[in-house]
Amino acid sequence: MAVTSPTKIVVIGSGLMGSALARAFAVAGHEVAVWNRTPGKAKNVGGGTLAFENLIEAVSGRELVVVSLSNYAACSELFSSEGVSSALAGKTLVQLTSGSPADAREALTWATANGVDYLDAAILAYPSFVATDYATVFYAGSRSVFDRHLETLQAIAKNSVYVDEKIGSAATLDCAILGSYYGSSLALLHAAAMCKAEGLDPKTFFSHKNSFLGLISVTADAAQGMIDRNDFSGDQCSLNTHVAAIEHIVRLSRDASISARFPNELLDNYKRAISAGLGGQELPAVFRTLMQD
Ligand code: NAP
Repeated sequence: MAVTSPTKIVVIGSGLMGSALARAFAVAGHEVAVWNRTPGKAKNVGGGTLAFENLIEAVSGRELVVVSLSNYAACSELFSSEGVSSALAGKTLVQLTSGSPADAREALTWATANGVDYLDAAILAYPSFVATDYATVFYAGSRSVFDRHLETLQAIAKNSVYVDEKIGSAATLDCAILGSYYGSSLALLHAAAMCKAEGLDPKTFFSHKNSFLGLISVTADAAQGMIDRNDFSGDQCSLNTHVAAIEHIVRLSRDASISARFPNELLDNYKRAISAGLGGQELPAVFRTLMQD
């Protein structure tokens, strides 16, 4: 259903994500301008969006500026072009480009100096998930700026989550979730490789994925409590015993002539905790050595 009071939005960047965001705002009934460095891509966004070749004209008269570029360096370069920062003054800029917390802090400094209201955001979705229940967007910055635009922003993700006033908090949470995602993905691909190399159909492993996901979930809950209490003692399974299990994974990988880089990296991290005297504690004790350089 179209919104009752459309917002004038410009989406800067018509890559895979920027195009999906622009179309989602337009489908929700907002007035959407699009701009892209390579103008042909902006024209192809479609969905009722209006393509501009001149960035200052695209920004002019818009209340909300949504940015989706490859990285923050591209944004800095663009915003330092002549006349752009004054065209953005008085508007709200929502940064949906992925970056680090330090990128977010630098962007806030620039925005504050140029009279721009700034929200730093992180989108947890593929472009095809935008505007569906599978999309989540995390926001950091001023709560009142977020509240003012929440209804409009829900066009791209109903699950629009305010994280914290600390401007780097959305990027921090994004890095935390993505780190877990990439790490777990590598683990399960290495698991499939072990199965294949040993002549076990990887489908057998994937069919038991809930055993693995259940263990991760239980470990996350246990780790949260232990980190909070700063107490990693327990009576379930010592780090010494876990390390023995990891050694079997390294051995299988070597014997089957597949890459042992991943289990070796695991072993290195867990053994480091044992060298620090934590061998008798539970698995989440590795957090202690991870907190050191
Ligand atoms: P993409 O398709 O490669 O698009 C990159 C965009 O950045 C293009 O519009 C490109 O313009 C523009 N760009 C790059 N350098 C520029 C510069 N120096 N000046 C001006 N414009 C520049 O990438 P994407 O997948 O849309 O990703 C965009 C952002 O969304 C990234 O930060 C990414 O991490 C984030 N993200 C993406 C996904 C995803 O699944 N795709 C998911 C979550 C977050 P040209 O067309 O002229 O090259």
